[in-house]
Amino acid sequence: MRLLFIGILIFLEAGGLAAQPLVTAKKALLLMGCNFELVASADQDSTAWEAINAGIKEITRIEALISSWDPQSQTSEINRMAGIRAVKVDKELYDLIYRSKKISVLTDGAFDISFASMDKVWQFDKKEQELPDSNIVQASRRRIDYSKIILNPKDTTVFLGEGMKIGFGAIGKGYAANMAKQVMSLISGVKGGVVNASGDLLTWGESATGDGWKISISKPDNIKQPIAWLQADDMSVVTSGDYEKYFTSGGMRYAHIINPKTGYPTTGITSVTIICPDAELADALATSVFVMGVEKGMALVDQLNQVECIIIDNSGSLHQSKNLKLNYY
Ligand code: ADP
Ligand code: MG
Repeated sequence: MRLLFIGILIFLEAGGLAAQPLVTAKKALLLMGCNFELVASADQDSTAWEAINAGIKEITRIEALISSWDPQSQTSEINRMAGIRAVKVDKELYDLIYRSKKISVLTDGAFDISFASMDKVWQFDKKEQELPDSNIVQASRRRIDYSKIILNPKDTTVFLGEGMKIGFGAIGKGYAANMAKQVMSLISGVKGGVVNASGDLLTWGESATGDGWKISISKPDNIKQPIAWLQADDMSVVTSGDYEKYFTSGGMRYAHIINPKTGYPTTGITSVTIICPDAELADALATSVFVMGVEKGMALVDQLNQVECIIIDNSGSLHQSKNLKLNYY
């Protein structure tokens, strides 16, 4: 069913166009359970590597704070204490939850970190399976409700209602990218870089080629022959797709994104790419547009300043937001 795919290729060939020659360091590794690639351009090789190592350290630190898999994390403690007591957390985690709730309001509940109470119901193992009993789905769905994530700003505590659970799968990589960029760009001599979390990427500053960061968009069967490109300087480009985590049932393909209103995984969209300066917002909105569908999702994007979007629906058609400037080859 899937005809198109948005592949992200960054052109990073070294060139002599920059005002001063820059060197580029690049490192690919597994962080937060996904493939990250960090790129830094700097006046010296050692500086570029210093930036990359600082970025890795920062992402590792964030993972330890927000992971709901790691029993030691504050997030896991919040989940364990659901319905029992409020948990005191770092201001940083508190603020992330606060912003997540704001995005829930903005998206009319399409984005909801308390989706995680459904994580035992659905298995996105790429296999054909029978849908679970609808009573089981409804029982878990009733626990999704961002308004029942109770935040107390005085002592930065978080309290979840009974049976609730939160997870940052749809916003954590974007947040980590923002923070990694921040620490990397603070290092003196660093001129620019990219944090790429499995296709969720954030660029800033200068590239070694001197002509900024170009992102190309390609079909799945031929990633080397892109259909279009966009100039993405100081920009985040984030794609949520159904091609890594999904299952099929009765010929339908179910993406790993849950519609909080129904409790069922979404079905109509193959990929959503959000382009905006903030990686965290881009990450969260990509997931939200998946849930909202082409029409409502695009209407929201068109209403937001400096946010653009490309949607590929299940029939392979490409939809793009009003002000997006794509360059076709
Ligand atoms: P990707 O994993 O491809 O980057 P997303 O950023 O869209 O894709 O994140 C998908 C993840 O978000 C899911 O695996 C799950 O952890 C979480 N999630 C699923 N549905 C929702 C939802 N409605 N609101 C918030 N998070 C969700
Ligand atoms: Mg997301």
